[in-house]
Amino acid sequence: MAKFLLFIAVLAVIYVLVRASNRRTKPPPEARMPEAMAQCAHCGVHFPGAESVSDGERDYCCEDHRRLGARS
Ligand SMILES: [Zn+2]
Repeated sequence: MAKFLLFIAVLAVIYVLVRASNRRTKPPPEARMPEAMAQCAHCGVHFPGAESVSDGERDYCCEDHRRLGARS
């Protein structure tokens, strides 16, 4: 009987270890690199930095807003 209980205990330990290792090897939630966002100095809208129109100092969402300049 003691051997049977030991067998059950070993199975339980293996089960716990397998579960733990499965959890560890699970790929982490996709760490998405947040896209660099820029903020329009005129209207304040946020947009991808790659689309920004810059006057050298500030970023704008479009050419029109760059011409209008930063809202004071
Ligand atoms: Zn704008």
